[in-house]
Amino acid sequence: MAKIGFIGVGNMGGPMVVNLIAAGHAVTAYDPVAAALEKAVAAGAAVAASATQAAAAGEIVISMLPAGAHVREVYMGRGGVIAAAGEGALLIDCSTIDVETARAVTSAAAEARLAMLDAPVSGGVAGAEAGTLTFMVGGGEEAFARAEPVLGVMGGKIIHAGPAGNGQVAKLCNNMILGITMIGISESFSLAKRLGLDWQKLFDISSQASGSCWAMLNHLPVPGIVPTSAANRDYKPGFSAAMMHKDLKLAEQAAIATGAATPLGSQAAALYTLFINAGNAELDYSAIIKLIDGEAG
Ligand code: NAD
Repeated sequence: MAKIGFIGVGNMGGPMVVNLIAAGHAVTAYDPVAAALEKAVAAGAAVAASATQAAAAGEIVISMLPAGAHVREVYMGRGGVIAAAGEGALLIDCSTIDVETARAVTSAAAEARLAMLDAPVSGGVAGAEAGTLTFMVGGGEEAFARAEPVLGVMGGKIIHAGPAGNGQVAKLCNNMILGITMIGISESFSLAKRLGLDWQKLFDISSQASGSCWAMLNHLPVPGIVPTSAANRDYKPGFSAAMMHKDLKLAEQAAIATGAATPLGSQAAALYTLFINAGNAELDYSAIIKLIDGEAG
């Protein structure tokens, strides 16, 4: 069993720590917000007074932070994880961040002879609690092999996506597909209603025809048809519109940086911007149908 330093124990990090401890790992956790530590402490985590202390306590250091700026500060800032981690420690950042930051932090770790992986997740808070997250991992083979059993405690699928940064690439490309398809489904269901086609009928036909996709089968944006839809519970997330917006903006930023043409990705980002600016950030991302159908804000 490993000694693990865990930095950032919010909605996702908290339950991830609970699962690590349940599997017998010794976790030292740090979060600047005391209330965020409650779940981890109740499960048996030791509390560190700083990220530096948490990093020094772990053979493996895991972070689950809001955005790239936090990751840069926690790893590369004064007294950061890279400076504090012990010899041979393995660093794993599970936050969803921009590819450039992921690669820059991994390079800085390599200069200090520390192996690092970017390992963003999908599956949301429910997946974090159930230990069924999907990890998309970028970094070296050896580091991946070392990380796999620990990530396996928190996740159901652990996929090596290639070298440093590729975990983030997989995450933002996947979520760009999800955002675009959710808007496409919303447009079709809105149009069908106006043309007098019953939503159940459209679902029965389209879910078995060429329009079928994961978002339709699992997160249908209209109520009463798919049991796992947030639409059945007033669009309580799930995966929030704010999170989808964040990931679409990361994809847009990466497209600009590489010269990739992503016109639908950019449109999707703009529509989610309108939607969250109208006060809907904390609704499920499938609630974008309210904007498409003319009910939002
Ligand atoms: P959160 O805001 O609940 O948790 C982040 C935690 O990091 C907070 O407790 C915060 O206090 C802490 N933090 C901030 N700055 C810190 C610092 N300098 N040192 C240590 N801790 C610090 O967010 P979350 O929902 O847990 O998401 C975390 C990451 O997971 C994000 O990158 C998000 O995009 C990604 N993610 C979230 C979901 C989801 O459904 N919530 C799904 C997939 C991926």
